[in-house]
Amino acid sequence: MSEKEQNFFEYVYDLFYKFAQTKPEDVGLILSRKTQYPIIKFIPELEMTIPLPRKQGEKYIFEGMVFENSENGRKNLWCLFLATLYHLAAHAGKSGYSIYNQWRQNRTDDFCWRIIDFIEDTIGEKYILSTEPEVWKNIENVNSKLLHLQKIQDETSKKAHKNKPKSYPLDDVEAKIESIKKEIIKKSGGDRHKENILSIADFLYKNRELLPKTILPYCEHHEYEQKLKFEINCPEFEPRDTFEIKIANLDELWQINEQAKDRLIRRFKKYLKKLNFDAVIIPSGNLHAYAALRMKTAPLLRTIRQQIRTITNITDSPRIDEIGYVDLQMAIQAIASEGQSTDIFERDERRRGEEAWVILVDKSASMGLRFDWVKEFTVCMAECANDLTGKPDAWALYSFDNNFQILKDFKERYNQEVKARIGDMNGGGLSLLPDAIELANRVLNEDPREKKYLFIITDGHPSGYEQIHEILAKIVKKSEMSDTTLIAIGVSKKRTGNFKNIIKAANLRTLVSKFITAYKTVATADA
Ligand SMILES: [Zn+2]
Repeated sequence: MSEKEQNFFEYVYDLFYKFAQTKPEDVGLILSRKTQYPIIKFIPELEMTIPLPRKQGEKYIFEGMVFENSENGRKNLWCLFLATLYHLAAHAGKSGYSIYNQWRQNRTDDFCWRIIDFIEDTIGEKYILSTEPEVWKNIENVNSKLLHLQKIQDETSKKAHKNKPKSYPLDDVEAKIESIKKEIIKKSGGDRHKENILSIADFLYKNRELLPKTILPYCEHHEYEQKLKFEINCPEFEPRDTFEIKIANLDELWQINEQAKDRLIRRFKKYLKKLNFDAVIIPSGNLHAYAALRMKTAPLLRTIRQQIRTITNITDSPRIDEIGYVDLQMAIQAIASEGQSTDIFERDERRRGEEAWVILVDKSASMGLRFDWVKEFTVCMAECANDLTGKPDAWALYSFDNNFQILKDFKERYNQEVKARIGDMNGGGLSLLPDAIELANRVLNEDPREKKYLFIITDGHPSGYEQIHEILAKIVKKSEMSDTTLIAIGVSKKRTGNFKNIIKAANLRTLVSKFITAYKTVATADA
């Protein structure tokens, strides 16, 4: 795949994990429009958040700085973004934060973190320098520009507090800091790493005046430091070599990404008319959470793939002429009733037309207790839908509570950005089930494909406004009379009244198996 075909998120994930020499399974990386500065959290695995630029009027805001929305302004923006990415990736690859766990106890948190960050930044910088010297040269340039800017600011504020004496001559402090840094590099790694580093940490704890007074914008901030400051204009960086190339890639991919997202949101806002949703949202993602889900469902997915192969083998056998057109509705009913009916294969020779599938996930609070189960099932459905259709534009995946979330639109590929969104799903909120079905119908109504299926993972318990049950019954009835096939998955017995087609099971394995068999039966019909 050429870089141009790549998506912004994939490009960033790829840069980060390759440089860190780690995997999404081990370290979480969240790209967020909500945070101002990079954050490192321990929950207990390492989770890093890199902010994304935010539009403010005609300008971009990123890490407390203002950038013109011009080629040059964005060059500076992506330069600072790359400094962030490499800085955090170095921590993801090199920093062992657990050695400080005990040391931190009974010590002031604020100072501890400043000391830990100072030490780990020194180790991280060494890693960048030795792994990719070109990257380090660029970061050094960013550092010098930012420090220069800081000096000017300090001098301005010093003029305001003229009488305050300095505790140390500045040059003296800088020389001391340099020698501590050298010691950190010399003594890190090896068998006595923990002991050596903690003794330096002790020394710094007693000599706090040596610690840097401010944190550079691209370095990790801790939550207690996330206070709003006035945004300042960004200095002019001078990216070279590898940074220049990457900045061009990031900028191009970002523009493509922003335009696509704008179009998607505009399209869905049109569908929202007269529905009760608060908003249509493209959720931010969590690839680490997805990787964990993927691992949890791996055995199940293996079984499913075996099952798929069995069915494929049957269609390859001489009895293939027995298998003609497959009626999904009948297939599901046959499977749901545990019957091994062959009636699901219609004997005529009709070829199946193109299909469009929408999978809707109810993530309301009423589903709360079983939400892990819902997430796992969603991963299974997504993985299989993608594997089986082999066509990413054949299926879409949305979730809803009182908002409508686009997890994967028809027009999106099943890439890491989409997977991360699935990983980030959380249960809660209301269940605007009728509105979600209506919205999905509006999406499908505009779809030119011949066969349309709407799968709804729900407990069949709508909530959010008066008479929502009556409205649900009406909308389900209306949908079932349209040319879309509606299949409810997971609805409990008490709530089945509304839906004609139901797949349910006592456990995830059976449920997925039922769904997949039905799915594959249809998918292989025109093989
Ligand atoms: Zn750092």
